[in-house]
Order: sequence, then C-alpha cells, then structure tokens
Amino acid sequence: MKLRKAKSLATALRWRERGKKVPFVLGLLEKKLGSPCPYCQKELTLKNVSLDHKEPFRTAAARRDLEEHYRLDVPKNLHLVCRRCNKAKGNLSDAQYRKLLRFLATDKHMEAAILQKLSQSYLIYERH
Ligand SMILES: [Zn+2]
Repeated sequence: MKLRKAKSLATALRWRERGKKVPFVLGLLEKKLGSPCPYCQKELTLKNVSLDHKEPFRTAAARRDLEEHYRLDVPKNLHLVCRRCNKAKGNLSDAQYRKLLRFLATDKHMEAAILQKLSQSYLIYERH
C-alpha cells in the first residue's frame, strides 16, 4: 500500500534521476505516516496524505516549466501534509500559509469558515 501511494505521489515530480523519486517519497511515508500534519496537526494516514511544495509553483505556466520543476521538486522543498491543508495552502509558501493559520487562529469561527472555503477551491496549478 505504501509503495503504491509513493508511486502515485511521485507521479507529478520531475527529477533528472527518475529512479530516485519513488524511494524518496516512500522514505517520507515510512517516516511521517502516523505523525501530525505540520499545519493542522491531524494524523497523516495513507488516505489523507499528500505531497506539498513548501515553496510552491506560483502560476500554471511555472507548473509546466521543466526548469521550475527541477528547482522546486527537490527533497528540501517537499514535505507531507494532509490533503485538506495542501488544497487550502494552494500557491502560498510554507511561511505564508503558517502566517495565515496564525492569523485565523485568533477567531475559531473564521478559521473554520475560511479553511473550509480554501480547501474547496481549486487554484491555478490544479488545472491542466
Ligand atoms: Zn493538515
């Protein structure tokens, strides 16, 4: 199951050394499944886990640019988060999304409402 998930998560990555993608993602899964999502603290499971770029692709064009993939699809820029947070984060950076979460945490109702909206929206990079 983990291997299948690793293969599926690695599909979108563009690495010069193709053979290293899946083992890298598998390693992340081995280490992080059962741990809390770094953003919402919900437990990461095979069902909800997703691969996030800390520094994201900013535009749809960047996502189609192979050089941008080589720059952003690197181990230090990739981490596992829950799918809901990945969607809500969209094309915000790790620092920006953490800032947003800190801000939203000051109002629990607003936090729930905004995160719900964000996690349902599809940003540019999700369109193909
Ligand atoms: Zn999360």
